[in-house]
Amino acid sequence: MSVAATTTLAALRSRLPLLWLNPDLGRAAEVLPRISETHGMGMADIVAADTLLRRWSEALATLFPELVAAQGVIESPLLTMAAPWAIPGAAPQGRLLIKADHSLPVAGSIKARGGIFEVLVHAEKLARKYDLLKPGDNPARLLQPAAREVFARHLVSVGSTGNLGLSIGIMAAALGFRAEVHMSHDAKEWKKARLRMRGVTVVEHRGDYAAAVAAGREAASRSSTAYFVDDEDSTSLFLGYAVAALRLREQLAAAGIPVDAAHPLFVYLPCGVGGAPGGISFGLKHLFGDAVHCFFAEPCASPAMLVRMLSGDAPLSVYDVGLDNVTEADGLAVAQASELVYALVNSLLSGIYTVADDDLFRALYLLQEGERLQIEPSAAAAFLGPSLFEAGAGLNYIRNVASPAEVTHIFWTTGGSLVPPEEYARFVARGAALAGR
Ligand SMILES: *Cc1c(COP(=O)(O)O)cnc(C)c1O
Repeated sequence: MSVAATTTLAALRSRLPLLWLNPDLGRAAEVLPRISETHGMGMADIVAADTLLRRWSEALATLFPELVAAQGVIESPLLTMAAPWAIPGAAPQGRLLIKADHSLPVAGSIKARGGIFEVLVHAEKLARKYDLLKPGDNPARLLQPAAREVFARHLVSVGSTGNLGLSIGIMAAALGFRAEVHMSHDAKEWKKARLRMRGVTVVEHRGDYAAAVAAGREAASRSSTAYFVDDEDSTSLFLGYAVAALRLREQLAAAGIPVDAAHPLFVYLPCGVGGAPGGISFGLKHLFGDAVHCFFAEPCASPAMLVRMLSGDAPLSVYDVGLDNVTEADGLAVAQASELVYALVNSLLSGIYTVADDDLFRALYLLQEGERLQIEPSAAAAFLGPSLFEAGAGLNYIRNVASPAEVTHIFWTTGGSLVPPEEYARFVARGAALAGR
């Protein structure tokens, strides 16, 4: 391990928030062709994922009436921040935007695109195998009894700390699959209740996220009719997440916001196992190349991707370096990053910063006050990026890239609209107390 990596690990152990800049960041024009060779993934796959989702739009609007207005497309708005003071500890220059995935319909989190995409890919595969769907057919026909009977004989399962379980469970159950969600000890009760209400089987585990994933994977491997969505190792999930980049490009263009070397994007993405922020970064790099700078946010107790970036050839977990993976940010409570995602993003990421739980609640409270947005603690991590660019290496980084006034900052709010009111009120109260209100 390099001296710099050892120093960063020591700083992580102190559990104070820090910004790490990626020494292995490469030029998009060199890195992306290399990934296409090693992993066979590129722009065509992202476009194909978008095409599949759009093919399903009629079926989705039929299953979920909340999608009728958007004609079956699951997308979130791009908002202009009305109250920049809601960003804790910083007053960044430039444009301040919020990519509001906390309000993504159906699943209420960033997991909607990836999770739903993977279930639909699986449903199409099964349907072709059983001669229920021919190329060019509208998948809306799979809502008919013939297909539902087939799906009812098949299981879709997943391991999750909560939000991926919601996304997969809701979509699979809506198509008539049997659905099973393996949940870690930190999964919230309301997420379990919501799934059970939809007829999804919730299996509770005493272990952490990785243990829940392992248990689900093991159970599914014993059945020929089970399909396991593997959050630690799924290209489907990754590509489903990447579709967000295409949608964001449209939204930026519609708002007349330029993105180029002189007008770069800084994107702040809360990170758990890595799939969602990784897929989005992968998509953004294909569209905007070196003009986009992707930063992941991780809890001080669970910096799984940062530890992975530091650990070289022998992947380490946060436990290995003396951290406990105990955080209120349940969507980010992951000890070991996805090896697949690590391999795909390690030269595309600009950096990773860590956040303290108390600061998450402060940010959540300020966002409620300033923007009237209901986000969960994990999502609040996005807003804790700018304070780390106010001085030192962060400030140098931004100045080397462009004039700070020309930067467009995008805060990715990854979840929150489905949090029950009582639970959300507790979050806000905790944040208000910490903010001294
Ligand atoms: C899952 C999740 C993330 C991070 O996604 P990963 O794919 O686990 O990295 C961020 N925020 C919320 C609210 C999530 O549920």
